Amino acid sequence: MNVPFVSFKPLEKELDSQLRAAFDRVLENSWYIDGKEDKAFEDAFAIYCDTKYCVGCGNGLDALMLALKALDIHEGDEVIVPSNTFIATALAVTYVGATPVFVEPDIRTYNIDPAKIEEKITRKTKAIMPVHLYGLPCDMDPIMDIAKKHGLYVIEDCAQAHGATYKGKVIGSFGDAAGFSFYPGKNLGALGDAGATVTNNEELAKKVRALGSYGSDYKYHHIYKGNNSRLDELQAAFLAAKLPLMDKVNENRRAIANRYMAGITNPLITLPYVPEYAVPVWHLFSVRTEKRDELAQHLADKGIGTNKHYPIPMHLQDCYKDLNIPKGALPIAEEISATQLSLPMFYGMTEEQVDYVIDAVNSF
Ligand SMILES: *Cc1c(COP(=O)(O)O)cnc(C)c1O
Repeated sequence: MNVPFVSFKPLEKELDSQLRAAFDRVLENSWYIDGKEDKAFEDAFAIYCDTKYCVGCGNGLDALMLALKALDIHEGDEVIVPSNTFIATALAVTYVGATPVFVEPDIRTYNIDPAKIEEKITRKTKAIMPVHLYGLPCDMDPIMDIAKKHGLYVIEDCAQAHGATYKGKVIGSFGDAAGFSFYPGKNLGALGDAGATVTNNEELAKKVRALGSYGSDYKYHHIYKGNNSRLDELQAAFLAAKLPLMDKVNENRRAIANRYMAGITNPLITLPYVPEYAVPVWHLFSVRTEKRDELAQHLADKGIGTNKHYPIPMHLQDCYKDLNIPKGALPIAEEISATQLSLPMFYGMTEEQVDYVIDAVNSF
């Protein structure tokens, strides 16, 4: 049997007529940027995130970067980010001229450890960016308390966690703003690149929208030195077709994860940990083992696709050499990058496929 790491086909088959109708509608309208499709999706997604405003943009990196820019975070400022995340979190900080300051995760949840945040706060710190990694919500209560105590903004990176809840409240609604990615592989994926910033702050939403549109509040009037990052009508129409299935998609991912959790008994494998406060959406099903590369090879030999998230921690990437953080300085991030492996996880994965992966993992 072959089990790909990810496949979009099951969802695309189910939504075939809706996706084609979305395309036809946009072509019929002959209007491609900043139109009614965009508005309709933004309104629906704001409701989904339990926030007042949603501003679409070109991708998840821009969704975060525009939020930071709109909060006037700039050169000389520091922003706290987890040491274990996709590099876009840190790049968003870098792009506004500020410095990412890495805080180690809790090895069990892989998410930023709130107990380690305060020791990294300086007079330059302006914000905390918690990342709900692999679809598991961060422990938001202590993070919000620390932010409040020190007068810091909170910008949630929700790129991997559409619809996940913390103590019954959906992520993206906790901070001053949150960034979402609709990269095709994300739980809610466009048919190309797309992203959105959500917030309850009207002024901030307006500023994010202006910043993504050449810093313009109305045509040919420019108040900021903005970017060009907008949500295409076509992508908005595809996303609007997919959004009604979001809960079903996440439910299906939870069923797959539960089957993995119950079935994988190999003592060499550390399974994901789900704290009581969280209902995750399993963007990734992430296991750890000292023999990670051997496990990946063992599964590849049986036709099973896997991926490493992420094989090189950010502080050891060439592009962040300038931060001068030596190897060994962030041991938990380094440990995760050396031992983590993501198993196949996608909407519509069959029970036979899940069981095949379970048997293959147990026979390792
Ligand atoms: C995917 C991702 C991003 C960036 O989203 P893009 O749409 O690819 O720009 C940011 N943060 C995290 C944690 C991600 O997984």
